[in-house]
Amino acid sequence: MIPTRSRFASACPPLPPPPPPRRGLRNMPSLRPKPALFNPIFRLTTSGLLRRTGAGGAVRAMDAAQVFDRESGASDEPDQRARLKIAIVGFGNFGQYLARTFAAQGHAVIGHSRSDHSAAARSLGAAFFRDPHDLCEQHPDVVVLCTSILSTEAVLRSLPLQRLRRSTLFVDVLSVKEFPRNLLLQLLPPEFDILCTHPMFGPESGKHGWSGLPFVYDNVRIGDSEDRANRCRRFLDIFAREGCRMVEMSCTEHDENAAEIQFLTHTVGRLLAKLDLKPTPINTKGYETLLELVENTCSDSFDLYNGLFMYNNNSTELLERLELAFNSLRKELFGRLHVNLRKQLFQSPDGGSSPGAEEN
Ligand code: NAP
Repeated sequence: MIPTRSRFASACPPLPPPPPPRRGLRNMPSLRPKPALFNPIFRLTTSGLLRRTGAGGAVRAMDAAQVFDRESGASDEPDQRARLKIAIVGFGNFGQYLARTFAAQGHAVIGHSRSDHSAAARSLGAAFFRDPHDLCEQHPDVVVLCTSILSTEAVLRSLPLQRLRRSTLFVDVLSVKEFPRNLLLQLLPPEFDILCTHPMFGPESGKHGWSGLPFVYDNVRIGDSEDRANRCRRFLDIFAREGCRMVEMSCTEHDENAAEIQFLTHTVGRLLAKLDLKPTPINTKGYETLLELVENTCSDSFDLYNGLFMYNNNSTELLERLELAFNSLRKELFGRLHVNLRKQLFQSPDGGSSPGAEEN
């Protein structure tokens, strides 16, 4: 069970009503009116980090002031307030999966990736920009980093941050949390807000909806104005509206838990995949669970699994514990086998022990 920190606050103003559905998406399940389940406190649990900049010196957003001043005036309209412009950087498997729900809830989605995903973006009702400059010049409210863990630093460094609005909210959805938190604090201008999150599900495990699935988040650096708190809340509310179990947790605590929950699960799934298990006419429930585990874990990229190993401090220890546990189990089995064999070997036909057995 994941420990939680308190997160509800009656003091927060209620969210504005969800934006009206876009044409053609009217029947999608996520458009059903859902209660605003989530009303977090935007106190800064990591207040010491507010406005902290990295060792390498802060980059400052420079050239967007007039444009976003005008845009923020326009967003005083009620519908505009509720609708976020969300840029997804890393428009691969998981990026597209998130985009579908963001768009279905009426948010404007724009994407960027190393590869050209224009067609996929179009089919999701999103716009795709091959050039990161063009993406940033769209002045999204939120930038969601959804690249592979291994490529995140290079991708973040390649973004022309100076083209974004000064108050942009950066969100990461990486499956490890301490690494992106430190990276974002180090590389982003101090004016940018930072929300580290981990939706603990994917296209396979969340294929029947997100209801009850855990969504972990840490408000690493959210400016203290009401606008910034509201923007962060509106983003989190996308997941709350889908019924996710919202869990506020520090990035450190997440990684301690995730090594066991996630890295172990993926390791066992990938280990079983090496056995090339096949369905049989007499599958038991337990065996079917194993087959499902293989499917759930191996449908994610190896980069993702590798990232879980490389960027979680706790993974190496977990691998060692797994190896010890396996060896100890094997020793126990072979120990018992040895005792039984010896009994059979030295048992005389009349049921008594043979003289040799006494000596041993
Ligand atoms: P992934 O293999 O971890 O990441 C694929 C994305 O990373 C693609 O958009 C890909 O770009 C980009 N990428 C890979 N190498 C790159 C490089 N060298 N330079 C630039 N971009 C590169 O698979 P994923 O499942 O889509 O996961 C994306 C992120 O979401 C990861 O950080 C993962 O931890 C997190 N996440 C995934 C799940 C899940 O269930 N899949 C759940 C929660 C969180 P292209 O588009 O050009 O291929």
